[in-house]
Amino acid sequence: MPVSRGVAIGRAVLVASSWVDVAHYFIEADQVGAEIRRLKAARDQVCREFEALKLDVQGDTPAELVALLDVHLMLLHDEVLASATRQWIEERHYNAEWAVAAQLEMLSRQFDEMEDEYLRERKADLEQVAERLIRTLSAHSGRGGGSALGPVSCEGDVPVVLVANDISPADMMQFKGGVFRGFVTDVGGRTSHTAIVARSLDIPAVVGARDASRIIRQDDWIIIDGDAGLVIVDPSPMILEEYRFRQRQGQLERDRLARLRHRPAVSLDGQRIQLLANIELPSDAAAAVEAGAEGVGLFRSEFLFMNRGGRLPDEQEQYEAYRDVVIALRGLPVTIRTIDIGADKPLDRMSLSELRHEHSLNPAMGLRAIRWSLADPGMFMVQLRAILRAAQHGSVRLLVPMISHPGEIRAALDMIERARESLRRDGTAFGDVAVGAMIEVPAAALMLPIFLKHFDFISIGTNDLIQYTLAIDRADESVAHLYDPWHPAVLGLVASTIQTTHAAGKEVCICGEMAGDAEFTEMLLAVGLRSFSMHPSQLPAIKQRILRTEIAPLASHATLALEAEDPRAVWASGRLRALTAIPQAV
Ligand code: PEP
Ligand code: MG
Repeated sequence: MPVSRGVAIGRAVLVASSWVDVAHYFIEADQVGAEIRRLKAARDQVCREFEALKLDVQGDTPAELVALLDVHLMLLHDEVLASATRQWIEERHYNAEWAVAAQLEMLSRQFDEMEDEYLRERKADLEQVAERLIRTLSAHSGRGGGSALGPVSCEGDVPVVLVANDISPADMMQFKGGVFRGFVTDVGGRTSHTAIVARSLDIPAVVGARDASRIIRQDDWIIIDGDAGLVIVDPSPMILEEYRFRQRQGQLERDRLARLRHRPAVSLDGQRIQLLANIELPSDAAAAVEAGAEGVGLFRSEFLFMNRGGRLPDEQEQYEAYRDVVIALRGLPVTIRTIDIGADKPLDRMSLSELRHEHSLNPAMGLRAIRWSLADPGMFMVQLRAILRAAQHGSVRLLVPMISHPGEIRAALDMIERARESLRRDGTAFGDVAVGAMIEVPAAALMLPIFLKHFDFISIGTNDLIQYTLAIDRADESVAHLYDPWHPAVLGLVASTIQTTHAAGKEVCICGEMAGDAEFTEMLLAVGLRSFSMHPSQLPAIKQRILRTEIAPLASHATLALEAEDPRAVWASGRLRALTAIPQAV
């Protein structure tokens, strides 16, 4: 499945799920010697630790344990292994941790293919030694363990693309600003959170490739075609040339679209459309402004809570993060969604939250989003206070995810009021916020008038609304073909939510992936949508679509499509008739 557009060409870097947080960066050519010395120093240190352990455990320790330590020491002293690892540093300029992980992955496969069971089981020894080596290297690197820390030098280095069985959204975040030019995963759906983060990185990605991580080998040349959802392994020179050409064309198209940045989004018949950005971290705010967004329509605050080894951000830290986004947006509205963890978006492995997630039988239906927040009022109160404090610096809108029960509406609004009262009591400054609800569950769409009585604005989360309307897990590739935004039930709920909200005189936006997909722009305009929120990289293409659309003639065709058994087909034929004779001005 294609999830992020464009073409990436590079050497495959295979990463096991348990190793994705190993630092991946290129070193400069003149750092090769120092990096090899760093590797050697780490190896010597681990050897000393094993020797010391051996002395410690001798005596009444079983002989097998001592023998195991001997095996580990033998692996560390193995010159063939050491020189193969050095080669990754010398020839590819990988940092030492990455070199160890790359070599381990290659050897693991060889072990897996061994006939002899005893030898096959030695893989575990190899993994333990490599893990210890990587931990020692990371402890002395000064860069921490994450690959996203600090700039990476890519110039002159061979481009690399990441191939993995699965990557969690939290791990995908680590790759922001990293070395990888593309991603392939075996599992996942188009709107899984991993795919959403890949799209926000704006690099080509394919998910649900099933066997990719088994078939592709470390260092293979591969092409990722993020438009067609293709992965080509070991391409011929002719295919390579064709894709290089496509890459250049894609860049030219992006440069052309970027010129629309400061142009207001107005349809051919003069309708002004609001285009907002979805962001995951405060550092994304600059890209949103740069892309010409008129505000942030969805700040997925849960990403602030990830990759922290279980220590959640306190009120001050959250306040500063929200404030930074508000200031970066210079008066434009910032919609901060309260934490939405659970389902395919667990926090990192060590946290309490992760433990809860693991124990949930059906995480998508379990304790996630507002359910989570209401189950942990202490944590929720900290977040609400931080958001209200940030509101003194600009225009902040507070958005509640996945709310579906009248009791949850009352509880959430009550918590917000209590947060205001506690700030007043402390004498802490805070600002006004508009409070909105996400419509992500059919129950919410069906009782919209109740929501409209209590909330200032509405935001439609189509990713979840599709998932819950059609009972299709958005992260499960085996049912991805049934995940259909054109389904009549989905379109009916989306259209009625837009129209009922407008009739009540309130604002409604779509912040799910449908908003950034040009296939749906005209349809959504035709059913009355005037506010779209998407990844900054998608803004120019959607703006171009709006600039080329005359909305009024499409409205009656939208009505017909909504009543049809196959809305997509009816829409396509009706749209063609409606657009005949409309000049293509942009
Ligand atoms: C959605 O469900 O459409 C949405 C925007 O929220 P998320 O993708 O973070 O679940
Ligand atoms: Mg959602």
